[in-house]
Amino acid sequence: MTPGSAQDRSTGVLVVGAGEAGVNLALALRGGGYEPAILVVGNEPDPPYNRPPLSKDFLNSLVTEEDLSLREPQLYREQRIDVLSGTEIVALEVGDAGSGSAETTEGFIHFDRVVLATGARARELPVPGAQLDGVHYLRDLTDARRLRHDLDRAERVVVIGAGFIGLEAAAVVNARGIPVTVVGREERVLERVGSAPLSEYLVAAHESAGVDFVMGAQVSELTGAEGRVTGVRLADGRTLAADLVIAGIGAVPNIELARSIGLTCEGGIVVDRRCRTSNPHVLAIGDCTTTAHPHRPDSLLALESVQSAINQAKVAAMELIGGEEAGENVPWFWSNQASLKIQIAGVSHGYEQAVVRTSEKDSGLTVLYYLDGQLIAGDCVNRPSEFLAIKRALAKNMTIDPSLAVDVATPLKKLVSPRKG
Ligand code: FAD
Ligand code: NAP
Repeated sequence: MTPGSAQDRSTGVLVVGAGEAGVNLALALRGGGYEPAILVVGNEPDPPYNRPPLSKDFLNSLVTEEDLSLREPQLYREQRIDVLSGTEIVALEVGDAGSGSAETTEGFIHFDRVVLATGARARELPVPGAQLDGVHYLRDLTDARRLRHDLDRAERVVVIGAGFIGLEAAAVVNARGIPVTVVGREERVLERVGSAPLSEYLVAAHESAGVDFVMGAQVSELTGAEGRVTGVRLADGRTLAADLVIAGIGAVPNIELARSIGLTCEGGIVVDRRCRTSNPHVLAIGDCTTTAHPHRPDSLLALESVQSAINQAKVAAMELIGGEEAGENVPWFWSNQASLKIQIAGVSHGYEQAVVRTSEKDSGLTVLYYLDGQLIAGDCVNRPSEFLAIKRALAKNMTIDPSLAVDVATPLKKLVSPRKG
């Protein structure tokens, strides 16, 4: 790098990435009394915005682009946070104490400390035909604008991927009155995050609303005519007609910069619970990171959620300022799919026992997960008070006796008890 031009800038903290994690870090730094300059650099053309509505209300035209704004621009000015959109950090150099310089598409930035908040990008379909017109991904506002526009004239949609994006997008497409089929390569929907009872419940609800599912199916090719997609061919020979395809097949963390400065990456930039990378002077937060699995200390886990990005932002701010430890100790997630409000507390992955609470009185669902007899997580659908009870129990390191949890007549919060042993 050859820093030294008139466009060079200097900052206290340089935040690479102007998404949920990056913006919340900047705000938490100011909230914690950090005084030097803060510069948040993002490569997307739009000012920082909320991603969750892209697959929900924005896709369904229930909110406008203005409604997506992550914070009012005035707040950044008041808090003396410089946000530079449309600018990519293309190279980094970091010295022994964490200071260094970054090369951007516009010039050089010198910093005292750098935090990587580079997020993730949509995984691309690895099959012939993926480049055809009418094939969409849904990661950013540019994707969502294009998809929303194309949906206005779509007649038959296939969604590839039965994770969060796939189910949320399918619910919107269906609500817009367009026939939609979800194709998943795994045997059940949301297999990565939930148990079989949750998957069965969700499929039944989506099917009764009109969504079709083809699970356990491998996509071999996208067919097309005159450059536009016409169908999704499966490995078993079937072809599902489609004039629009949405691929929601996971997120790939943006770790190229981290790799270029020698940071350890395994499915994301590896960070400890204080958001320190393998170079303790460089922090990383949000979807670009992986960290120790809460129940399997030898494995790593990427939490990939708004709550996790905000939590890590608070923790990293305190790490930079040298303040009190911050952040919540219970990860939690939500997903809205038509009338289904899914809320997840804790990490169920690795559970040994699941207890299902259904009731004739309401159509909701609660699944409690146990490891070594202790509560580790819970999934709730349209049961906000049960979700809160589980989240609070986990936060206080309490449990709910699995033999009592099956009794749906008793409110869950009354069953919370101290852990034994
Ligand atoms: P991102 O939001 O991805 O932001 C990272 C930013 O850094 C991006 O703008 C990226 O372009 C930029 N960047 C990368 N490299 C560079 C570089 N070299 N220079 C400059 N800029 C760079 N989570 C939930 O909890 N609930 C939901 O309902 C939910 N819905 C979602 C719906 C959709 C459609 C999507 C895509 C995600 C959803 N999520 C949801 C996940 C949630 O949005 C992410 O977990 C969260 O946005 C992560 O924030 P982040 O800042 O780590 O990453
Ligand atoms: P996801 O939840 O990881 O689901 C992707 C699914 O696609 C997985 O089931 C995966 O199966 C499958 N898949 C992977 N490669 C495939 C291929 N080549 N062909 C067919 N299927 C394939 O990811 P997502 O739904 O795309 O979401 C992307 C990101 O946004 C994630 O980080 C997600 O957490 C986040 N998001 C979160 C929310 C929310 O919290 N409400 C909402 C939307 C998005 P395998 O598991 O077998 O790989």
